[in-house]
Amino acid sequence: MASIDIEGIRKSFGAFPVLHGVDLAIRDGEFVVLVGPSGCGKSTLLRMIAGLEEVTAGDIRIDGKRVNDLAPKDRDIAMVFQSYALYPHMSVADNMSYSLRLRRSTKEKIASAVSGAAAKLGLDPLLERRPRALSGGQRQRVAMGRAIVRQPKAFLFDEPLSNLDARLREQMRAEIKKLHGDLRATSIYVTHDQIEAMTLADRIVAMHGGVVQQVGTPLDLYDRPANLFVAGFIGSPG
Ligand code: ADP
Ligand code: MG
Repeated sequence: MASIDIEGIRKSFGAFPVLHGVDLAIRDGEFVVLVGPSGCGKSTLLRMIAGLEEVTAGDIRIDGKRVNDLAPKDRDIAMVFQSYALYPHMSVADNMSYSLRLRRSTKEKIASAVSGAAAKLGLDPLLERRPRALSGGQRQRVAMGRAIVRQPKAFLFDEPLSNLDARLREQMRAEIKKLHGDLRATSIYVTHDQIEAMTLADRIVAMHGGVVQQVGTPLDLYDRPANLFVAGFIGSPG
């Protein structure tokens, strides 16, 4: 697993500035939750870490190594989206093994990675199904399974549960918590859901207006919010 260092990151789309200089040091094995209003640049920040979006200025380091110019496939980071992004024509097992097949892993390695991830996520009975024959929660489990089999250095989650109903969200939240307990994988998790943030985070990063407003444990932000924006999000009196 890996540390992720974000130093002075700026991002503009054309003349339109989105991030004004974001600094953030994420420790190896840490679960960091990123919160902030819609449009503040959370997805853009994740996409830059994954290499799906160019940075306008600043550096991104993974384990101390600058990765600004590395292609996504060479960064060894897995991203889990709200929309699942599964291949509809492939079985669950083939969806999960796709990235390993691309990397020409051996059959034995692929089989053991898929069965390990399936066991962790309760996907064993579903391995031969197509995505359309799965519920929303099951699809999101497959998306997570696909991320896990690669044993990436870090996971980036972009509002992974926001398409699910409240009961499923609660269940998946518990599963993600348990998974992180098992894997201790460095993770950055974007959510609008306060309870998700409070229960999953080692530290919460509150973003607003293109900068980081506050970084701290859930209790820090609750007890000592830096400003009204943070207080409003955490629901504390400020
Ligand atoms: P969040 O995930 O916090 O809701 P985003 O990172 O998706 O916010 O977007 C931040 C801002 O950047 C928004 O104003 C959005 O419209 C803009 N933006 C995102 N992607 C692009 C793009 N490819 N081209 C132009 N503007 C974009
Ligand atoms: Mg977003």
